[in-house]
Parts: sequence; structure tokens; C-alpha cells
Amino acid sequence: RIDEMAHLIRRRVQVGDWPPEWFHVEDNIRRRDVLLDHGLAPGEALAAALDRGPTGLLGEIERSALRGRGGAGFGSDIKWRSCRDAWGDAHYVICNADEGEPGTFKDRVLLSSYFDMVVDGMCIAGFAIGASKGFIYLRGEYRYLLDRLETRLAQRREAGLLGRNILGRGFTFDIEIHLGAGAYICGEESALIESLEGKPGKPRIRPPFPVTHGYLGQPTTVNNVETLALAALIAVKGGEWFRAIGTPASTGTKLLSVSGDVARPGIYEFPFGVTVAEVLEAAGATDTQAVTTAGAAGSCLAANEFGRRIAFEDVPTGGSIMVFDQSRDMFEAARNFAHFFAHESCGFCTPCRVGTAVNARLMDKLALDRGSPYDLDEMEKMHHLMQGASHCGLGNTATIALRDILAKFRPAFDRRLHSPDYEPGFDLDAALS
Ligand code: SF4
Repeated sequence: RIDEMAHLIRRRVQVGDWPPEWFHVEDNIRRRDVLLDHGLAPGEALAAALDRGPTGLLGEIERSALRGRGGAGFGSDIKWRSCRDAWGDAHYVICNADEGEPGTFKDRVLLSSYFDMVVDGMCIAGFAIGASKGFIYLRGEYRYLLDRLETRLAQRREAGLLGRNILGRGFTFDIEIHLGAGAYICGEESALIESLEGKPGKPRIRPPFPVTHGYLGQPTTVNNVETLALAALIAVKGGEWFRAIGTPASTGTKLLSVSGDVARPGIYEFPFGVTVAEVLEAAGATDTQAVTTAGAAGSCLAANEFGRRIAFEDVPTGGSIMVFDQSRDMFEAARNFAHFFAHESCGFCTPCRVGTAVNARLMDKLALDRGSPYDLDEMEKMHHLMQGASHCGLGNTATIALRDILAKFRPAFDRRLHSPDYEPGFDLDAALS
């Protein structure tokens, strides 16, 4: 345990020491449509929400059909109402800024360039559910933002936009920033809450859900950074206005972090319903072989699927669009994902702890040209086993991209199946070391 602590401390120092210029992506905002075009004045959304009252505000959120932007797409009005109606000594709002999905960096831009919209979103969420305290769970690797965000919160307190008696309207709400320590699993809301309480970030058994038994066992709403910023916009412009954008089942816009083999990587905001091909064209992608649409945890689309639409009803995404051109070896991409999940599995449940490790090992075996068709069948079986039996979303989604790549780019795997001179006594561990 001492070794683990020392490792964590080293890691925190390390991420804090990364030069800020590595993270400056504000200039990388390529296309703005709705959210980013309406840079609201600080407190504007908050004042509008106070004017509407908690019931009127919840009505607008319901009319907007806003769904969570973290990827799951749960209805925000249902979440807020359930939390408001749950019994508790106190209610809490948590902003999930543990943006750990590979290839995702949109929340970082919202926090660094549109922070007041996010804070207003948290305040109005607190107003709607009857909370007076909120937390921003900030990804450990975003430590460099901490001082800037704390300063802004202090300025808002001085301006009467945070803390006691906000805008002189009798509403009290304050925010504390909590720094994560680099665990991907803490993006899962119940693991995040465990971490916030000072415990290891392991997902809870659900039900009960956080909306009734969240932080310290009290009703808690956990929302993504982008969801909260959009809620602020809806408080000002109304639900009908928002609902007119996007598709009937996926209203509004979506921020996409586009990276990989494109001429113009960066943040793009599109109305839901945009095709993958339109996103690729905007980003200047040519000769594209494959696109992963939800980082390491979602589908991998081949070229014949680029007409599909970014929307909860077709291709849902938390915002990570990674582009691979024809020069990329998709087997190596899949191997990378397998190792990522083997590293990030929290180890709580056997299907995920063992399954992710087995997959990574099988991919290494294939990489050494020592695999067999049996290994590919094993990975397929592991996919079904983990999807059915894992305790949380990490285990349920850990094999989706791997399986997609295996199904759609099979030649990249087949050419690694073992040669006839296979040695029965072959030592994989020795070969890997
Ligand atoms: Fe932990 Fe994986 Fe089980 Fe989730 S599925 S609880 S990450 S071991």
C-alpha cells in the first residue's frame, strides 16, 4: 500500500508539472453552432432560472428533452426530478469533469473557456433539486486548471453569483473542486462518488441509484460538464428553442473531440443527426479507414458506415471521434484498447478483471504471430461473457471496439495467426519480456 501511495503521489506531482502549453486547445475550436456561440454573461442563466422558479425551470428542461452528454443519454429532467423528490438531509450536485475517455477533450475546453456557463448550470441544477452544495470532480490530469478555476469561483462569490444569498434572491449554493487521481473508472458516477467520499473509486452496487443514495448516502445528481452548460443555455432560451435543434430523440447539439488522421483536429459542435461523413469532411479527413465514435469504449465504424448519424438512436457518443486512415494497422489499435482496459479495470468483479487481462494477453500472443483461430473465438466468447456479467459499464463496454475491429478488419488479425513451425513449448511470458 505504501508503494501504491508513493506511486499516486508521484503521479500527481507529475501531472501537475506538465507545462500548461501542452493543454492549450482553445484555438482548436473549429466549428461553433449553438452552445459555444451563446457565450452567456456570467449569472445570466442563473437569473433566468430564478425568475422561472424550480418548477418552471424543470418544465423547460423537460420540454427541451435534454439528455446527458456523458454518453448514456439519460433524460436530465427525469434525473433532476427524481433527485428533487428523494428524501434526504441534504441534496448535492456533482459536475463530472473526470474526462478520461481516450480521445475526448471537449470538457477541458468548456472548463477553460466557458467555465461560467458550467457553474451557472450547476447552480440552476442545485436550484431545481433543492441543493446548496455542489462538487466539481476534476480529472487529475487537469490539475493545471485548478488555480484558474478556484480563482474564478472566488470572483463569483465576491460578485454575489455564488455562495450565500445569490443575486440577493435568497438562494444559497456553493461549489468545491475535488481533484481525481487518474483512474478512468472514476468517470462512472458511483465510483466517482466513492472517490469523492475519500474511498477507493469502485462502482457501487445499484440500485439504489445516486439520485436517491449518492454522496454520503444523500440524493445526488451527477451531470456531465457539457450537460450542465446546455442546461444553462436552456434556462435562458427555453426548452422549445432547444428542442427544435437536432433530431426528435436526440435534441440539441453535441460537442465532438475529433482527433487522429485529420487535417484539422479539434472541438466541433454539430446538431445531433450529423453524419459521420460530414464530421470527417469538416475535419479534413481523407482516405479514412475507420472511426471510433466513443473512444475506446464504443463502436468502430468502417468506411461503408460513414453515412450513419451521430445521435442516441444511431451512433451514440460521449464526444470522442478518433480517425484512422489507411496507413493504420487496426490490429494495433485494437491491441492498444485491450491494454487500456486491462490497465483501467478496477478489479472489483471477476468477469472484467480476468476478461480484460485475458484479452490483452491474447492480443499480445497474436502480435507475436503465435495466435490461433481458437484465440479469436476466445475473444468473441469473452465479449459475451463480460457484457452479460460485468458489474459496471467499463466491463460491459470494454470489448465493443475490440470486437468491432475483429469483425470488420479481420485480415489484420488473420495474417497474425501462427505459422506452421509453431513450437508446443513456446513461452509467451518470456517472449513478451
Ligand atoms: Fe471494476 Fe470492471 Fe467490474 Fe466495473 S466491470 S466493477 S471496472 S472490475
